[in-house]
Amino acid sequence: MTQPHAPTCLPPGHVCTVCGRRYKHRDSLVAHEKVHAGVTTCHVCGAVASNVQNLRQHLETVHRMSRDHVRQITRLPGTPRVRASLDPALRGRV
Ligand SMILES: [Zn+2]
Ligand SMILES: [Zn+2]
Repeated sequence: MTQPHAPTCLPPGHVCTVCGRRYKHRDSLVAHEKVHAGVTTCHVCGAVASNVQNLRQHLETVHRMSRDHVRQITRLPGTPRVRASLDPALRGRV
């Protein structure tokens, strides 16, 4: 019972249903799927980042945008506003 690499029937990762890319971590796949949603596309130069974090970096470094501005324009559609629901004081703000 000393098998460091226990054989498993599970697929060795998470596969993107759109392009078939494989990711070790589910988070990576979730981040990658944003690419297909078009939310990682730079609206300035049309470059496609591999994830939203990279797009933010791209906008900040390449287009010299402020972090606040970048966050505003890269807000993900459909992302639940967790913080807003945690803090009632923030409710009512759009
Ligand atoms: Zn994909
Ligand atoms: Zn750009």
